[in-house]
Amino acid sequence: MLVDVHAHLDDKAFEPDRDEVVQKIKETGMLVINAGSDLGTSRFSLELSQKYDFIYACVGVHPHEAAKIPENYLEVLYRMSKEKKVVAIGEVGLDYYYDFSDKDTQKRVFMEQLALAKELDLPVVVHDREAHQDTLKILQESGVKKGLMHCYSGSYELVGEFMKLGFYFSFGGTITFKNAKRPKEVVSKLPLDKILLETDCPYLTPEPYRGKRNDPTKVEIIAQALAELRGISKEEVEKITTANAQRLFKFAKPI
Ligand SMILES: [Zn+2]
Repeated sequence: MLVDVHAHLDDKAFEPDRDEVVQKIKETGMLVINAGSDLGTSRFSLELSQKYDFIYACVGVHPHEAAKIPENYLEVLYRMSKEKKVVAIGEVGLDYYYDFSDKDTQKRVFMEQLALAKELDLPVVVHDREAHQDTLKILQESGVKKGLMHCYSGSYELVGEFMKLGFYFSFGGTITFKNAKRPKEVVSKLPLDKILLETDCPYLTPEPYRGKRNDPTKVEIIAQALAELRGISKEEVEKITTANAQRLFKFAKPI
């Protein structure tokens, strides 16, 4: 059984046929963790997780949304995070590529949510785009002891620092892209017990479907790509990455 540890089934790209997509996920027997990006999508994640036993939820505010959230957002996240199927605070972090929210606000909202995760003893799911040094520094100062660098795009040199903080790394469609040298290099060298699989759907669709809408069932393709990069079987990839996901997110039901 595979786990897609980072999906956005709440995205409007799924509006026309979300029920069918969810039905296909169910047929594969896989699990999905849906990530929130603001209060609305966090609520949506939570509701999806309550409706389907194979979907779990993260609640959190993405750096893009950091400048747009209401003052009491932490209270709202706190209340949602108490629900049984919320397995992490996320996605949170820094994005200096788009800069949709100014850097100071991004940092403040990131730090506040890390403090919340620490208080709740939940892992954090971190988005870091072109902000590797600041992300690392803030995580080091936060006291957070477990989490996931999602769609990791940093260097292999930094991996050890994140691992010291109890972090795992997830990879998606990029490891199937011909020109994505860095994530391929990192995923080829990382200890296998630190790797998780994700789709980040509807974005980052793996080859050969690049350009089309992504969905959680395509995690199968990511598993195959990882198996080839590591020279092991897809079954081994499945067993190891699912055990890793279980160790980090502690799903309520045994998997
Ligand atoms: Zn995401």
